[in-house]
Amino acid sequence: MDVRYDVAVIGTGPAGLSAAITLKIRNKNILLLGSKTGSSKVEKAHEIHNYLGLPAVTGEKLSGQFMEHLKQMEIPITEENITSVYAMGDYFALTTKTNRMYEASAVILGTGVNFGKPYQGEEQFLGSGVSYCATCDAPLYKGKTVAIIGDSPKEEAEAEFLAEIAGKVYYIPTYKGTINIKNNIQVVWDIPVGVQGEYQVEKLILKKQELEVDGVFILREAVSPASLVPGIKMDGNHVEVNRKMETNLKGCFACGDITGTPYQYIKAAGEGNVAAISAVEYLSKLN
Ligand SMILES: Cc1cc2nc3c(=O)[nH]c(=O)nc-3n(C[C@H](O)[C@H](O)[C@H](O)COP(=O)(O)OP(=O)(O)OC[C@H]3O[C@@H](n4cnc5c(N)ncnc54)[C@H](O)[C@@H]3O)c2cc1C
Repeated sequence: MDVRYDVAVIGTGPAGLSAAITLKIRNKNILLLGSKTGSSKVEKAHEIHNYLGLPAVTGEKLSGQFMEHLKQMEIPITEENITSVYAMGDYFALTTKTNRMYEASAVILGTGVNFGKPYQGEEQFLGSGVSYCATCDAPLYKGKTVAIIGDSPKEEAEAEFLAEIAGKVYYIPTYKGTINIKNNIQVVWDIPVGVQGEYQVEKLILKKQELEVDGVFILREAVSPASLVPGIKMDGNHVEVNRKMETNLKGCFACGDITGTPYQYIKAAGEGNVAAISAVEYLSKLN
């Protein structure tokens, strides 16, 4: 790590992209983290009728326009999944699924609301057999039995990596389609319900069966904001913000679906803009 960015923007949906564009206009050194293809919630929309200036636009077309806008403004996307954001006083430390670290003076969260409801026992056993990061925690399971719940084909590579270290690996996909796993991994088509144990995870409970395991890796594209940013104040399932998109953590802002309903593109983009302007104001007081 050789750079401390002014602002790290997490999320490449309309909220994060709008924040990044405003920050670039304000000449900030930004790190935009997420997927190089933007947001699947934009790409997959059939036809959108309420985005200003673009009547009856397909999700694919809108997504293409967003990416073109970034390209014209020379804003690169760093394809990383962030697993934690720690407030360190006057800066934030971010860790990724691939075990990299980044630093930024301010952070804007635009990670949407894909995190869903946690499985039974998931939060209780986090750090005691439940993990969200294969790269970080795999060494703890050398020769042991682990289950991996994967919510997208991207997680198959993580399963293969774990299989090189663990003794036995079960892979439970929560999506449909062909599974392309080469290593000796047992694919289990069932629905996860929860994890159980006394002090440490002992079992993964599925709808039709139970698996005796030492660890459970829950690999989702997004984790809940409370797990992502320790200490962040929530309002139900959403991050609590004020009209400046400030969270309770100084220098940490949130925008888009993560802050609550209505879940709309234009609301997300508008909040991204506000969060960016507030981050600029915060930085000016910091320096
Ligand atoms: C099928 C469908 C149709 C819709 N149609 C409409 C419509 O017609 N009109 C309308 O206004 N709204 C519509 N919506 C709602 C709209 O999609 C959302 O309100 C909007 O996408 C929210 O934007 P966002 O930037 O907050 O989050 P998202 O678009 O969800 O983007 C979040 C981004 O963060 C990334 N991310 C998440 N976690 C991490 C992490 N840990 N590290 C790095 N990146 C991360 C994700 O990969 C994603 O790129 C529709 C939604 C769906 C699903």
